Amino acid sequence: MKASKCIALVAHDSKKDDLVSWARHNAGTLASHRFWATGTTGTQIAQACPELDVTALKSGPLGGDQQIGAMIAEGRIDVLVFFIDPLSPHPHDADVQALVRLSTLYNVALATNRTTADFLITSPFFGSAFDPTGGGDGEPASD
Ligand code: PGA
Repeated sequence: MKASKCIALVAHDSKKDDLVSWARHNAGTLASHRFWATGTTGTQIAQACPELDVTALKSGPLGGDQQIGAMIAEGRIDVLVFFIDPLSPHPHDADVQALVRLSTLYNVALATNRTTADFLITSPFFGSAFDPTGGGDGEPASD
């Protein structure tokens, strides 16, 4: 992983304000990274944070989660911030589960709530090159 991370952003409807607020609050830290997001999430974040490089894909229920899943399978995503609403049913729940499964399978750094996202972006690995197969010595890899 390079110092500049490729980050996917997704938020269920009741969590979109929270993700937009998180991105706005951390825009300075996030500005050196690149973002891909499901459609509605990405549009809202791009409006709130014009300094971020955000590519909005299709809306999640229309295939956006699967587009991000394909990027993960191709090794193109380092970090997934996916604010999940655990209290509501979703018509595309199979896609949601697949996204979490692929993140786990491909060793993508995954945050599903704001606290974990904060821990993730304050890690020394977030702003530096990192070798996820580096033997667990806890040191960021050289670029
Ligand atoms: P959306 O998709 O950003 O297009 O609303 C999110 C989701 O998968 O629920």
